[in-house]
Amino acid sequence: MSHQDSHDVIVIGAGASGLAAATALRAAGRDVVALEARDRIGGRLLSTPTSHPGRALDLGATWFWDGEERVQTLAARSGIATFEQHLAGDTMLQETTGIRRLTGNLIDAPSRRFTAGAQSIAAALAARMPTGILRLDTPVTAIHPSPGGLDVLTQVGTLHADHVILAVPPALALERIDFGDALPADLVRLAQTTPVWMGAVAKVVAHYPAAFWREDGLAGAAFSRTGPLQEIHDMSGPDGEPAALFDFAHARTVRRGFEQAVTAQLARLFGPAAASPGALHLQDWSAERWTAPSTVQHIADYSLFGHRLYQRPALGGRLHWASTETATDYAGHIEGALAAGERAARAVLAAPVGANDIALGVTAPSR
Ligand SMILES: Cc1cc2nc3c(=O)[nH]c(=O)nc-3n(C[C@H](O)[C@H](O)[C@H](O)COP(=O)(O)OP(=O)(O)OC[C@H]3O[C@@H](n4cnc5c(N)ncnc54)[C@H](O)[C@@H]3O)c2cc1C
Repeated sequence: MSHQDSHDVIVIGAGASGLAAATALRAAGRDVVALEARDRIGGRLLSTPTSHPGRALDLGATWFWDGEERVQTLAARSGIATFEQHLAGDTMLQETTGIRRLTGNLIDAPSRRFTAGAQSIAAALAARMPTGILRLDTPVTAIHPSPGGLDVLTQVGTLHADHVILAVPPALALERIDFGDALPADLVRLAQTTPVWMGAVAKVVAHYPAAFWREDGLAGAAFSRTGPLQEIHDMSGPDGEPAALFDFAHARTVRRGFEQAVTAQLARLFGPAAASPGALHLQDWSAERWTAPSTVQHIADYSLFGHRLYQRPALGGRLHWASTETATDYAGHIEGALAAGERAARAVLAAPVGANDIALGVTAPSR
């Protein structure tokens, strides 16, 4: 096997975590490539453009909060415009017995949003990478120990690296990537049972010509005990443009007739103008091959996030875990994804030269 496509580090996944890892390694002068399965960067950061220049609607992550310093610093340094989540107004409550209006916003906590959408965080990191580092449409299919490092198999060939950073949700990595029997059983069990944050949800975004609910003194916030939407939020841009409402629905509830049921419910809650959004976006993350493993609806032990086994490298010190699920703080959030990527990069930089290949039984034969 030729090792011409050989690097110091291969990062698998160009979501926030993988991009943060690649950025930190490049800054330290390492030769790094990032392999991304999709034809786009960002992973669970996905923003769809609108007719308002520079403003997008988020189909994945939306908010960030006080104390999330990596996100704030990255946004500030990259010139990414942010704004406060709209909070003012009353909340609607839908029960089996009818609909009530409750004073004040009882749902939304203070938070901030990205004017051009959360995917701009990924775009800002990628923009600083020289050409050739990010390779899209390149799913990794297998990782195997080999003398002096790891072989990383893709549909277009095999790459080699001293270190690999796995910036993919662990349960997805175990389902899509063949490790042979190289990983210890406790790590395999852990990874297979670690939930994928928001991997089992669909996000529904109703885009309107104007934020008409604000004129009625409503926050665009609603609770429902009848569904199909259960908790609705205002997802409009700054000053209400673009105007939008959104909800997370459990992917299990998304079936034929779902969209009509959604618009009918929005009209009951917010009035007749809500019946006809200009566009209704439905992003079912559970159906995304590069986000959700087949088990996504059944793995729910969130106490496994940031598990100690993710904090140390596997495969003789050469395989490093990233992704928000492996973060010890802010796990699940963009902040956690960035932190996990940075932690993995630090571990690579701190690794002794010539990690423990003997433990893997892959040392090159002596001549
Ligand atoms: C609907 C929704 C709403 C959310 N809301 C918020 C929010 O408001 N605030 C917040 O902070 N967070 C939110 N999150 C979570 C946030 O999106 C994630 O924490 C963060 O984006 C995860 O980044 P990551 O890099 O760890 O993983 P991902 O974004 O999942 O990146 C993993 C990357 O790996 C790629 N990949 C997978 N398998 C392979 C393979 N075999 N080979 C190569 N590449 C592969 C994927 O295509 C993907 O690009 C939300 C998530 C969703 C889905």
